[in-house]
Order: sequence, then structure tokens, then C-alpha cells
Amino acid sequence: MLEWYDENARTFPWRALPNQKANPYHVWLSEIMLQQTTTTAVIPYFQNFLRKWPTIEELAQTQLDEVLHAWQGLGYYSRARNLHKCAQVIVNEHGGKFPKSEPELLKLPGIGPYTAAAIASIAFDKVATVVDGNVIRVISRLFALESQKPALVREVQALAAPLTSKARPGDWAQAMMDLGATVCQPRTPHCELCPWQTSCQAYVLKAVAKFPVRPKRRHKPTRFGIVFWIQDAQERILIQKRPPKGLLGGMMEFPSTPWAETSCSMDEAMAHAPYQGVSNHVEKEVRHTFTHFHLKLRIVKLQLTTMPHEGLWVNLSDLGQYALPSLMHKVLRAASCG
Ligand code: SF4
Repeated sequence: MLEWYDENARTFPWRALPNQKANPYHVWLSEIMLQQTTTTAVIPYFQNFLRKWPTIEELAQTQLDEVLHAWQGLGYYSRARNLHKCAQVIVNEHGGKFPKSEPELLKLPGIGPYTAAAIASIAFDKVATVVDGNVIRVISRLFALESQKPALVREVQALAAPLTSKARPGDWAQAMMDLGATVCQPRTPHCELCPWQTSCQAYVLKAVAKFPVRPKRRHKPTRFGIVFWIQDAQERILIQKRPPKGLLGGMMEFPSTPWAETSCSMDEAMAHAPYQGVSNHVEKEVRHTFTHFHLKLRIVKLQLTTMPHEGLWVNLSDLGQYALPSLMHKVLRAASCG
């Protein structure tokens, strides 16, 4: 496996070159970004973060809004809030140095078992078992595991731990990730390139596609809401900040009704509008999918004839300076082009 890795390792801006020590700040930052996002999407964000905040001290000192703004488009914004919080804990309580052990890493904001194992092994060469989607796929095929999540994860953990290289645990973790991403791929595994071909149970059984066994899909509910595109007499748009906790916490948004299981009438919707104005009843709709539900938001434009004093009113051309999540970018695109 390590011979395969020495020849086939992928290069990333956060990866140390051969014979160089990994930078824990880079490893941590990349692992948080990679939690729900592909490597290709992460690279420009990672580089931008390092340009803005070359050290963890600089990241800790910046305002959360700036971090959220730089995170825009990566989704799952609780990661960005925890990233900022974690940087402050590292600087204020650990003298700017990451702890090296998994139990200590696990105490930090936003760091779960996978990320703790990844940082301990990749940044500090500690023997730790990294279990992510790639590793689950490789191990479940290697041993032809019939179980499903969550039992599967425990089984994979138990089987992967004794395989881990004691001499090069960091490289082993990255080798597992790379094998899963480039060879043992979900739909088209390249078994002919795999260093484990002869010992892989799924391959021997000619049943690679069966593993990992997939649970039946759960139905994802749809929620509905109305979002208000409110312009004042100067054509500025009203935005507001979402509560700090919960879905898209701390991000900016256009005001909306609550997102409910049934759609509401216009009268009900207007009771939630922060201002009453001349309604154009623009019936554009944007759709977005979150982890646990689909969302359909109808856009209603309200034109005010006055200059309101309350609220954050922003020129259309300045909206890009605010931390709008992808959903609100969809609203912005739909509402501003017609
Ligand atoms: Fe995956 Fe094929 Fe290698 Fe088995 S032989 S681990 S299925 S790539």
C-alpha cells in the first residue's frame, strides 16, 4: 500500500512534500474544508484562506463575518463558525500550537473523530485510524462486509486499525484516502490498478458493486416559504443576519417567512414581511436542497416609496461584500434579473 502511495500520491497545496513535515494549521484547515466538499472545490478556498490568514493567529484575530464571507459557497456554515472558534481556542489556550493526541484534538470545536485522527496522523505522524467515506468503501470491499451504517462504521474501524502502518501512519492515512478517491471509486473501481486486488474479497467474489451495502433511501421532505426582495426608494435591498445558531447561522439573508411543511397564502406571508409595500407578486421560485430537506422559496418583490430607517439596506452592487449562503445567491440571481 505504501509503495503504491509513494508512486501515486496526489499533490495538494495542503500536503507536505516528501521528506518535509506537514504544517498542522494547513492540515486542520484543509480537513475542515474537506468534510463535506470535494478536493477540487476546496483548493481555491484553501489558497484564499492562506492568503488572507497565513497563520492561525491571524485567523483567530479576524472577525467571524470575514471568515463567513470567505467561506461563502462552501456550504455547511457551522464549519466556518467552529473553525473560527477553534482558531481562538488554539491561540488563547494552547499557545498557537495544535495538541498532538486524538483525545486532546477531540475537545476542540468542530473536530470529530475523523478529523482528530486525520490531524494526529497526517500532521504529527501518530498512529490513528482515519475512517471516512473512502476508507469505509475500501475496507467494506476488502472484507466483503455485509453490514450497513452505523454498524458498518464500527466494523470498518475495528478492521482498519490493525492495518495501519506504525512506521508511517500519516502516509498510510493519506494512502487510504487516495486509494478510495482514485482507484476504489464508488461506481467505477479500477481493480486492475489496486495493490490489494488479490486479497480483496469483493473482487474475488466478483461482487465489487454490491459493497458497501447501501441502506434504503429515506424520503427527504420538502419545505416551503416566501422570501422578500424589498427595495426602498433608492433601490437598496433589505438584508438581515440570521440567528447565530442553527441552519445557516450568522449568515446574511433576505427576510422570509418561516420554512414550513405547507406553503402559505400571500396574506399569511405578508404578516411576516418586515415592511409592507407595493407588491409585484413576482412568482419566481428558487429550489435548494439541504441535508435533511428540500426547500422551495417563492420570491415576492416589495417596492417601498419611503426611505426606511430600520434594517440593513444595501446597494445591489455591494451585496457581494456580505456573507450570503448559496441559497441566497440563488434568490439574488433570480430576483435581480427580472
Ligand atoms: Fe477496491 Fe477493487 Fe481494490 Fe477491492 S480490488 S479494494 S474493490 S479497487
